[in-house]
Amino acid sequence: MFASVRSTTLLGVVGRAVDVEVHVGVGLPGFTIVGQPDEVCRESRDRVRAAFLSRGFAWPNRRITVNLAPSGERKGGAGLDLAIAVAVLIADEQLSPESAKQFAFVAELGLDGSLRSVVGAAPLVAAVRDRRVVVAAGNVAAARAAGASDVVAASDLAHAVACLRGQDEWISSNSSDVLPDAAPHPDLADVRGQPAARLALEVAAAGSHHVLLVGPPGAGKSMLARRLPGILPPLSDDEALSCTMVHSAAHVAMPPSGRITRPPFRSPHHSISMVGLIGGGTSAMRPGEVSLASEGVLFLDELGEFAPSVLDALRQPIEEGVVRVSRARTTLTFPARFLLVAAANPCPCGAGTPGVCVCDDSARAKYLRRFSGPLLDRFDLRLAVGLPRVDDLVDGRPGESSALVAARVVQARAIAAARNGGVNANIAVDDLDTYAPLEPAARALLRRELESGRLSGRGLHRVRRVARTIADLHDAPDLVGESHVATALQLRTALSTLAGGAR
Ligand SMILES: [Zn+2]
Repeated sequence: MFASVRSTTLLGVVGRAVDVEVHVGVGLPGFTIVGQPDEVCRESRDRVRAAFLSRGFAWPNRRITVNLAPSGERKGGAGLDLAIAVAVLIADEQLSPESAKQFAFVAELGLDGSLRSVVGAAPLVAAVRDRRVVVAAGNVAAARAAGASDVVAASDLAHAVACLRGQDEWISSNSSDVLPDAAPHPDLADVRGQPAARLALEVAAAGSHHVLLVGPPGAGKSMLARRLPGILPPLSDDEALSCTMVHSAAHVAMPPSGRITRPPFRSPHHSISMVGLIGGGTSAMRPGEVSLASEGVLFLDELGEFAPSVLDALRQPIEEGVVRVSRARTTLTFPARFLLVAAANPCPCGAGTPGVCVCDDSARAKYLRRFSGPLLDRFDLRLAVGLPRVDDLVDGRPGESSALVAARVVQARAIAAARNGGVNANIAVDDLDTYAPLEPAARALLRRELESGRLSGRGLHRVRRVARTIADLHDAPDLVGESHVATALQLRTALSTLAGGAR
């Protein structure tokens, strides 16, 4: 007999509907899965059989063929288990075909027949959300986050079959239950003093400019970076859904609601591998940190400690806003629209200040070379962050709150979007004169910087974009003035100055 049951498989961060077709017929007893199953998927034979026996179902001692349609794409993971089990029961006439018609099944089976949560439940369920979706209890929140309106759960295979036969009740969670989202990001009000660094964060958020913070340990570089996502504009519904899909597919911890609702903050350790940062991998093609940080902030602390090849791989996603990973015949695209914040010590000993620093010139020069090069050029904002002043720490009043700064950021972004159709960091060089025209005094200032050699040709464009953002923050949407350019120059400290004592 023949049966067809709807399920879904994960391709990168996107779910694809799959029809699990099962034929049970004469021939030597056996179980074959065709339709490009991966290793985990092939092993479902053993899990499904064990689940049958554990839950008292008769295993058909006949020839069982499972086809995963459409056959063109590779099917991965264990999420097809339940659909295969239900299809075998139908094909073996232990369950009526009508009972499973309106359903899609997305769950792994344990050897004891229990239903288990699967990785990537949100994108998996999104591919079949027009149906009534059966998941493990642990995946209900993710399934709802994927926009499935009719989600039910079962505890094990026997329970699911009893529900399909109308003999038992599904575990159905009330869709009006409000589960908590992630806690808000830490607030800028916690930062005492540090006016230049605060300004740099505001400008970074408003114009989507990448930031490099250089300073000794204890200067609060990490504390500052963690407060950047809190002043980014709130995620649109589409962005939130995209973030949720990526986080679900990458199998990282999710808030109880199963939803990502705030700009993400990712802070990978400097020992991270290329695959961990960029994505890909040999078995499942998972998104990496750059995709998890999409629509939010990627923070690389101790930039000089990352492997140069890993940093090099960042250039393509920074330029294109997406990551392409390939394996065999498949190339997948993951989102990677992140704001990059990097932090580094000014020199190997960390002190940086002349007199305190114990590094010799060659050690300092070698350190400097580690984070020179093309990546460094991507940072529109480069800032020396000093230790906070004692006065600020002892009796400083709280700084301005993230909510106040975020309001200015939203306004500046609206000005930029209305003028150049996007964020200022993305203004093309050829469009700078159109979108960021300079007052004569501003032009003269830039000329002096170029002539003195303090500013390079490439740096010029970056300074002009930052000055554009600063003008927008001051509600000056037309000409960019001298003071805007002067501030932009201050926010782009020369590397030699940043990296310790060579002033
Ligand atoms: Zn030093």
